[in-house]
Amino acid sequence: MKKLVSVLLMASMTGLLLMSTGCGAKKQLVMATNAEFPPYEFHEGDAIVGIDAEIAQAIADEVGAELVIEDMAFDSVLAAVQTGKADMGIAGLTVTEDRLKNVDFSNPYATAAQVIIVLNDSDIATPDDLAGKTVGVQLGTTGDIYADDIEDATVERYNKGFEAVQALIQGKVDAVIIDNEPAKVFVEQNEGIKIIDEAFTYEEYAIAVKKGNTELLNKINDAIKKLQDSGKLQEIVDKYITAE
Ligand code: GLN
Repeated sequence: MKKLVSVLLMASMTGLLLMSTGCGAKKQLVMATNAEFPPYEFHEGDAIVGIDAEIAQAIADEVGAELVIEDMAFDSVLAAVQTGKADMGIAGLTVTEDRLKNVDFSNPYATAAQVIIVLNDSDIATPDDLAGKTVGVQLGTTGDIYADDIEDATVERYNKGFEAVQALIQGKVDAVIIDNEPAKVFVEQNEGIKIIDEAFTYEEYAIAVKKGNTELLNKINDAIKKLQDSGKLQEIVDKYITAE
């Protein structure tokens, strides 16, 4: 009798094990990002949260997959998508002609700007004043690309936008070119720095997938449209960005 019970027990445990590992397992949807970009993606305790993380979760729900977030250097995000290490890049990614040669982009889900952060008493008041100055940027970002075109400027590249802001505060660079929303967060968190009125450029954020992956791209575009039409996208944005 005892033996029968244990055999039955083992059989049912094997069954449970099969259910939890085998056929029931959800497929994964891997998002590549750089979680140093508040309010779009940043660390909160052990979790990576933010606007992009919530959009990614909505896409995973749409696809019926489990979302896996891979945090990496910003300049590795597009490579991860290109090589198939990740299914999608969501990192406040600006759509550019050059990037479109290497990946496909979804419809845009946000508009943004590159802005200039300076010390409060700086003589830099417009983008033209950056000529001949030392400019801090995050490696591989559109800010980095534009800074390269400024006449006689020296460009200092950092792995994190926050490190460029630290360099500004320490007097190592004269200005930082960075996306407007992270800029607002960094200026709020640090004394003595400000964003100048005139933006450097205007751009659009979209989600990157491997070239030719139209199946996923269509699902992503569907999810973005649903988020927009239902007002959910605005809700997510309002949760992280307070209107001035
Ligand atoms: N929007 C900028 C870009 O695409 C910066 C993005 C980021 O730093 N995460 O290059």
